Amino acid sequence: MKKLKLDQIIIDAGTQTRAKLNEDTIEDYAEAMTEGGKFPLIAVFTDGANYILADGFHRYMAAKKNGWVDIEVDLHKGTRIDALWYSLGANKANGQRMNHDDKRNSIMLALRDFPKKTQGEIAQHVGCSREWVNKVFGQVVNTSQPGRTVTGKDGKNYPARHKNDLSRPPKPPEEEKDDNGKVIPKKLLTLWHRAQEIQDILTQISKIRATIERAQEEKDALYAEITPSQVKAALDTAYTAIKATKPYCVCPACQGEGCRACSHRGLIGKFRFDTVIPGELKK
Ligand SMILES: [Zn+2]
Repeated sequence: MKKLKLDQIIIDAGTQTRAKLNEDTIEDYAEAMTEGGKFPLIAVFTDGANYILADGFHRYMAAKKNGWVDIEVDLHKGTRIDALWYSLGANKANGQRMNHDDKRNSIMLALRDFPKKTQGEIAQHVGCSREWVNKVFGQVVNTSQPGRTVTGKDGKNYPARHKNDLSRPPKPPEEEKDDNGKVIPKKLLTLWHRAQEIQDILTQISKIRATIERAQEEKDALYAEITPSQVKAALDTAYTAIKATKPYCVCPACQGEGCRACSHRGLIGKFRFDTVIPGELKK
């Protein structure tokens, strides 16, 4: 068990395998949490640098709704793909039962991202019948890229082989876009990709904070001369300030050319985006 900051946990890595989250469930969980209800720990995967949520999206959203800063997690070692496989298998045991769409969505994700697993393995893992996996497989094959053809050696066109449509990893897009869907100018990509550096620093600050907290709880003599509340407040200030500089999107005021609003870097952090950029420019 480990405590992480909610903000540290990545929730948009494609590991949410339900068709969609249920607002009522989030509401119910949030209420139960404030009344002291005990919930199973959410499952998070880490490669050492990133923390990816694999199970407990409703619980995570409920904690967020309640304004929690930290959450206790069941931490696993692994990558995004490990987290996804875990997620695909986790919902069959969860409080919020999977509906038809959730299962169908899980099967589709499993077929797409785990082409080496057999249909039987996927059925068992997701918690559905093999016939169902087979049916979804058929639907995906028949609807993926309709009308796509390849040119054969004889110069004639043939339908593209379906097997490849499923097993080939998606091509990386030629252009990268920010969260608002805006293309990031090429000259800004280097800076954009360094957002991870900021994330790493934030992770370190969280670790220091956790250390101070533990020292306080255990009355650790090594830390006897510090005032924990003071140090934690300073760390929180640093965390907020450093987080604000993490590139969030192309500056809507100058479209990446550089202006006062973005400190002449063309990219802008989330905090400034929220507070400095006028609403009409955000569209
Ligand atoms: Zn600007």
